Amino acid sequence: MIFKHTVTERFLRYVVIDTQSDPTSSTCPSTDKQKDFGRLLVRELQEIGVADAHLDPHGYVYATIPANSSKQVPVICFCSHMDTSPDCSGANVKPQIVRDYRGNDIVLCGDQSQAIRIADNPALADQVGNDIVTSDGTTLLGADNKAGVAEIMDAAQVLLANPQIKHGTIKILFTPDEEIGRGVDKVDLKKLGADVAYTIDGETAGHIEDETFSADGAVVTIEGVSAHPGFAKGKMEHAIKIASRIVERLPKDACSPETTAGREGFLHPIGISGTLERATLSFIVRDFTEAGLKEKEVLLEKIIRDVMEDFPQSTCRLEIQPQYRNMKQIVERHPEIVDNAMEAIRRAGLTPVKGSIRGGTDGSRLSFMGLPCPNIFAGEHAFHSRTEWVSVQDMEAAVRTIVHLAAIWEERA
Ligand SMILES: [Zn+2]
Repeated sequence: MIFKHTVTERFLRYVVIDTQSDPTSSTCPSTDKQKDFGRLLVRELQEIGVADAHLDPHGYVYATIPANSSKQVPVICFCSHMDTSPDCSGANVKPQIVRDYRGNDIVLCGDQSQAIRIADNPALADQVGNDIVTSDGTTLLGADNKAGVAEIMDAAQVLLANPQIKHGTIKILFTPDEEIGRGVDKVDLKKLGADVAYTIDGETAGHIEDETFSADGAVVTIEGVSAHPGFAKGKMEHAIKIASRIVERLPKDACSPETTAGREGFLHPIGISGTLERATLSFIVRDFTEAGLKEKEVLLEKIIRDVMEDFPQSTCRLEIQPQYRNMKQIVERHPEIVDNAMEAIRRAGLTPVKGSIRGGTDGSRLSFMGLPCPNIFAGEHAFHSRTEWVSVQDMEAAVRTIVHLAAIWEERA
């Protein structure tokens, strides 16, 4: 296969467009500027011959590369998100390229206090000799997830320019608002018509993730007993104090984000508010298994029960709200989805590594909406920060992976 890579040119063109999403907005997309990027992508897709490319009113880009094989090949979709994180400015991004990287810390030219340090980025050790794209240190870069967008766009061009590469129908989906958790809220799966999807939004080259956390939210509502503070002896039961006791009883050396890694989950308070009479605690619960989630929720119940023994006139209610589930439950029913991706990564010249994400992805929700969707690397590192970076060579490897993956599905059909 011959690749004439234009992925970096594309990437540099895309990152200068501000597409930051906004969690306080109630519109879809949350910011209108995401549509500017969507319109550019549609134009570029049409220019390379993807006739049906279009932007829908909710800010989603849909496109189809028609099959060029007579076999019955499952329809596969490649998906990336167009928005960047609200945590860090994405306006006036000035991308810089460090050619032939020598293995040193990279000081960013627009703000000398910002440096991409080896100590914080062990993955840089694998990049010696490569070309690294960074921001100038005053904004994020936006490789999350414009690297993925550029890679899918470039792979589309390779497929269209090389009819000798046989493939089934390929769908392209670019979503808005992933960073604020609404990336698949308005996606029309019927219209998309795919059997299998891959998000291209992972970190290290060669990695594929077929597992995410399972996630619940928990809200604890405490009704205390109020009384005039001058005459409260033996009567008052203070809701704020009850809430504080519950937090104080949480495990100190385990079960929290700051004490866990790998496959361990946690029970994590994310909000507390209250008055004497009424207080609310909100938690997120995370684990890779249902049993692990349940265990943490039972622990919270037990803590509440123990604490409430000292406050007989007060009440406490615990409500659990499911948020998303580990995609593995769905993806593992179709082992060829991951097998084909592992083979594509191998053919792209990398060693495939299967991993799990300590979080959720658009893919976890898509999987449970009926579209199994693991996550393939895009090469983005240190995302949501001013020291974000991606290498040209990793982006090129991702393009090769996507093209090989399309061909492998046809080959094995
Ligand atoms: Zn992302």
